[in-house]
This record gives sequence, C-alpha cells and structure tokens, in this order.
Amino acid sequence: MAEREPLPIAQIGEPVLREVARTVTPDELATPEFQTFIDDLIATMHHAKGAGLAANQVFRPVQVCAIEVRDNPRYPYKPAIPLTILVNPVLTPVGDEQFANYEGCLSVPNLRGRVPRFVHLHVHAWDRHGNEIDEVVHGLKAGTYQHEVDHLLGKLFVDRADPATFSTWTEFERHHRAAFVEEARALVARVGS
Ligand code: ZN
Repeated sequence: MAEREPLPIAQIGEPVLREVARTVTPDELATPEFQTFIDDLIATMHHAKGAGLAANQVFRPVQVCAIEVRDNPRYPYKPAIPLTILVNPVLTPVGDEQFANYEGCLSVPNLRGRVPRFVHLHVHAWDRHGNEIDEVVHGLKAGTYQHEVDHLLGKLFVDRADPATFSTWTEFERHHRAAFVEEARALVARVGS
C-alpha cells in the first residue's frame, strides 16, 4: 500500500489551534470517512516524528488525538507509548502532585519550555472503534496526554509554560537536555512511564 500523504499542520497563530474542538458522535466515528481521517492523523504524526497530534492541529476541530512514542529522535528519553487514539477524552488529575515537563510542539516551531503537568492522571475516552478507555497514566506519559488534550481545548504549551524557560531546540540540547534527562529518568524510576 502506498504511504499516506501527510496533512498540513497548523502553526501557532492559526485560529483553528484556539478553537475548542467539538465532541464526536458514535455514528460519526464509525463512518469510513472518519476512520480514514484517523489514519491520516496517524500518518501525519509519524511523518512529522511527533509524540502526539491533535485533530485541530490538522485543521479539523474535533475531539480526537493520536499519541505514540517509539524510538522518537525528537524525544529519545521518553519511555515508549503504544499507538493510542483518544476520542472525546476527559482528563482528571489524581492527587495534586505536579512535575515540570520540558515540551515542544509540532505547531510551535523550534521552541521548548517547561510546563507544570500532573504526575497522575485519570483518562476517560473512547478508542477509534468507540470502545471505552478508562485508565490512570503517570509521569511523562501523563504529560504527553495533558499536552494533546490541551490542544483539543484550544490551548498550547506556551500558555502554561514559564517563559523564562523557553529555549530553541539547539539551545535545549546544549544547555538543558542533560539535566532534564536526569530528572525524567528519576521520575520514570519513581512513578513509571
Ligand atoms: Zn502540540
């Protein structure tokens, strides 16, 4: 089968990134057209080497996001997350513990920054076939989930980041990566993923 063409990715300043995405109905989710859209969302995430991609980042403001971490050169310190599609996700923090994640975004070119994220998170959603997802995720994985679901609420990581921590990717590699990888390893050792 030919590789799917990636969709264009909206860049910061594009109004669609600030829309609150609408919920998806079970009938809509089941249509071949919508399933093809999900395939395109996944193909676009893979093409851009993202750890996640929300539907409004590809100009379709519906409550769907894709998440996957697998030998990602953008995030080599991240533990693997199998390919996950969240439809109509609702996240609820479990406890109030937070950590300072270092995030980047396919819609925000060449910028990283530290964002407070909850360490433990309850996730309620459907998968792409409408099956219920009901789980608790932790650590860096919880950070990724919060980043993607923020997109569906019209928020970007720059809204929540401490601006004093903003860094280009080159300067992150040069000045901040080593310390953050140590923090991330300690977090993974303590809470998993
Ligand atoms: Zn993003």
